[in-house]
Amino acid sequence: MRRRRDGVSEQRVIDRDGARRLGLTYYFTGKPCKHGHLAERFVSFGGCVECNRIHHSGVIPVFLPRELHARLRLRADREGTSVPFLVIRILKDTLGPPEDR
Ligand SMILES: [Zn+2]
Repeated sequence: MRRRRDGVSEQRVIDRDGARRLGLTYYFTGKPCKHGHLAERFVSFGGCVECNRIHHSGVIPVFLPRELHARLRLRADREGTSVPFLVIRILKDTLGPPEDR
């Protein structure tokens, strides 16, 4: 995304495949998501950046061992998802339902 001198975002429409070919992290359809956000989307899984920001408040930067990351990537590819979504699912499956406090 480019920013004009006045700080307003100037988003250029680029489809997901085009953005992927350019090695970009985001693409922009120029159309709102199903929740009405006119925002960029992640090339990796197609999700709206604004929806993602609202729904995922916890960011945990973790350096994964190379071998583990490779295994996660393979499995994510096989299952048609992204590594972050796969990790979330594995954590949910491992932790089980939320505990009462
Ligand atoms: Zn959205």
